Amino acid sequence: MIKIPYGRQDINQADIDAVVAVLHSDYLTQGPVVPAFENAVADYCGAKHAIAVNSATSALHIACLALGVGEGDIVWTTPITFVASANCALYCGATVDFVDIDPRTYNISIERLTEKLLEAKRIGKLPKAVIPVHLCGQSCDMASIYALSQQYGFKIIEDASHAIGGKYKNDAIGNCRYSDITVFSFHPVKIITTAEGGIALTNDLVLRDRMRRYRTHGISSDPDQMQSRPADEIWNYQQISLGYNYRITEIQAALGLSQMRRLDEFVLQRHKIAECYDVAFSELPITTPWQHQDTSSSYHLYTIRVRPSDCGKTQRQVYEAFLASNIWVNIHYIPVYRQPYFENMGFRSGLCPEAEQYHKEVISLPMYPTLTATDQERVIAVLKEALS
Ligand SMILES: *Cc1c(COP(=O)(O)O)cnc(C)c1O
Repeated sequence: MIKIPYGRQDINQADIDAVVAVLHSDYLTQGPVVPAFENAVADYCGAKHAIAVNSATSALHIACLALGVGEGDIVWTTPITFVASANCALYCGATVDFVDIDPRTYNISIERLTEKLLEAKRIGKLPKAVIPVHLCGQSCDMASIYALSQQYGFKIIEDASHAIGGKYKNDAIGNCRYSDITVFSFHPVKIITTAEGGIALTNDLVLRDRMRRYRTHGISSDPDQMQSRPADEIWNYQQISLGYNYRITEIQAALGLSQMRRLDEFVLQRHKIAECYDVAFSELPITTPWQHQDTSSSYHLYTIRVRPSDCGKTQRQVYEAFLASNIWVNIHYIPVYRQPYFENMGFRSGLCPEAEQYHKEVISLPMYPTLTATDQERVIAVLKEALS
């Protein structure tokens, strides 16, 4: 039995040719392909500006920095995410806190967020920024989060690492209509890939300029951003703030640009796979992904919930049945604050009961455009067998 992973990239000859062309060109980094890739993503999403970097983690970090997140600030996110959604705030010296999830979408709960904001205002501990995560590629309720940001004065970074190609209220995720900055990941398991890579989108010129500087050592060669110096000295660049080397290469950007041309086809294929699972599982005593009418998911992940009270089997029994059949399902995610590093910061079980219950029931099934019908049938058969 060949191994079936939960996610993997789809690379075709056009992708390979695009990468090889860069290898034959003058620039391996800081050439023309990075801005072309940035423009392609910004245009697709309907955002004004894009800053491509070497990972979504870096994009989240420079997004926090650009919004002025620093020591003494508090940043909130969901516990059901990859650790990077919280670490970005810690890199800036801020503290993090977590808002429980919605029982249907598993995204950040608007009810819990509203309650927590009221309490935070009362005790004078409002967040500087909130980082909603579009889990599995399904958008959060951004209109409500935006309305709360206006009321309580916090910034919004959308962690859309799962969600390029998804839609919210019929528009592309990434347009930043309800946020300051949106971030995508291009890790190979995500919707499109640059091997490692990420991007930050914004409609704000000031945020764009700051994120560009943070990407490259805090350096600018824009005369408008440079201080005046004696005319007999040559100053072709200046370091204005402390920044990093978070640049993406031309090689990666070429792969990304080629993959962007295939994005709609990838998402269509993911929808077909999701539909096939939905139909196959319609009579099974498990919970399949619930979709809000305002959203069209990119289906980065297809998650099921296994409850012993529904099906008589535990998550572990089903999980191990998959592994025994060489189907590498996964758990997305362990609540971030239950990680040892966060427990050492003082977080304890019980903080987000909905998220903790979800962690004990969720399994991510194989979901990627090159998953064949035969392999998907194998996944379905193993699940049916495990539940019988
Ligand atoms: C993958 C992922 C990240 C990090 O992406 P990298 O590109 O690997 O740094 C951040 N947040 C979420 C929700 C992710 O799934």
